[in-house]
Amino acid sequence: MSDRSASAPNDLRAFWMPFTANRQFKKSPRMFVAARDMHYTTSDGRQVLDGTAGLWCCNAGHCRPKITEAIQKQAAELDYAPAFQMGHPKAFELASRLTEIAPEPFEHVFFTNSGSESVETALKIAIAWHRARGEGARTRLIGRERGYHGVNFGGISVGGIVANRKHFGTLLTGVDHLRHTHLPEKNAFTRGQPEHGAELADDLERLCALHDPSTIAAVIVEPMAGSTGVLLPPKGYLQRLREICDRHGILLIFDEVITGFGRLGSPFAAQHYDIMPDLITTAKGLTNGVIPMGAVLTTARIHDAFMTGPEHMIELFHGYTYSGNPIAAAAGLATLETYRDEALLTRAAELEPYWLDALFSLRGLPHVIDIRGQGLIGAVELEPIAGEPTRRAFSAFLKAYEKGILIRTTGDTIAMSPPLIISKAQIDELIGTLGDVLKTLD
Ligand code: PMP
Repeated sequence: MSDRSASAPNDLRAFWMPFTANRQFKKSPRMFVAARDMHYTTSDGRQVLDGTAGLWCCNAGHCRPKITEAIQKQAAELDYAPAFQMGHPKAFELASRLTEIAPEPFEHVFFTNSGSESVETALKIAIAWHRARGEGARTRLIGRERGYHGVNFGGISVGGIVANRKHFGTLLTGVDHLRHTHLPEKNAFTRGQPEHGAELADDLERLCALHDPSTIAAVIVEPMAGSTGVLLPPKGYLQRLREICDRHGILLIFDEVITGFGRLGSPFAAQHYDIMPDLITTAKGLTNGVIPMGAVLTTARIHDAFMTGPEHMIELFHGYTYSGNPIAAAAGLATLETYRDEALLTRAAELEPYWLDALFSLRGLPHVIDIRGQGLIGAVELEPIAGEPTRRAFSAFLKAYEKGILIRTTGDTIAMSPPLIISKAQIDELIGTLGDVLKTLD
């Protein structure tokens, strides 16, 4: 047994926590010391039902023995191999396994260590690809308002979250944004994809007219925007975006860091929405969140354009010390096996009707102004308090934690994305408890 007291330190000053209200946290810390399947154990010995799969990443639930054992075995066998000019079998095997569950044209995989790094990698590949084909003027990148693409400079430049951008200078130049697709006045309380908003994809045509398409390298969007409140693509929107990209020779990147690995009921959102991008960024569920790892998936059309010139030359000047790290690769393989053995990549599709019935039962509770959901993801948007737009949702988060469920908040929206192993009874518990919390909010 581990020493639980050692996991609950008294001195909390040194650790500057990411994306956290540090001062609030350190006054009343919330500590997890163990986890198993659908539950966390807190430092004061309570069980908390995981309504968010950690940070949308523990899709198979927690501390799954197969994954733990694979990591232990790999750590004892081959801990590290240089990622450049040397290989080890598990990275190749994992890349192959990934192409088997990815949409058909995706035949190549570039490993990273996080979602943010996958985004930077995909943006760089897009620009370098055009250059490799003699179209070096295509450097402009297009993102979308309310897009979240991690926290590195490329990602926050194409991203569309004001708070992630405004503190950090001028960011990348040559970046534009499509408008976001959140149209609550037309689409509130829609189950699944909203009816209205496909025409917003035409923003890309306007940017092509403004800049000339021969200067645009790529468009990056989350097929379903998770971090900014579960914004589903309006019906027809992604198709329109794809068509405009094709018309003008622009690459389309889907950021599937959240939607990858079964969240919507298919391995990837590209399959769910049946729209094929040119590059897919992933992370999180790739190793069930257990070891940091990300990947960029791409097609032969993109990959092969780099495979020219003398054979001894490095084709893409990009990579990380830990790209395809053996322990991460072992975790990834065990994770994909778990998804396959338990049919988890399609489970969200089976549970979706039950999940959405439960979620939409919250309609009519105090302060609830919109509900959105698809697959095993859902959001409840609360009416913001004037001048304090995140306070009500944060208060819901704290109360939910006290009552034994883990939810997430983003702005004034509560977001949920439970592990794909959740049972119907646990869905009832999660949504029932959230309903109780909502009734007590000021
Ligand atoms: N892209 C998307 C769509 C994400 O949701 C996230 C993380 N929530 C990231 C990128 C960044 O991933 P990471 O935190 O692993 O860098």
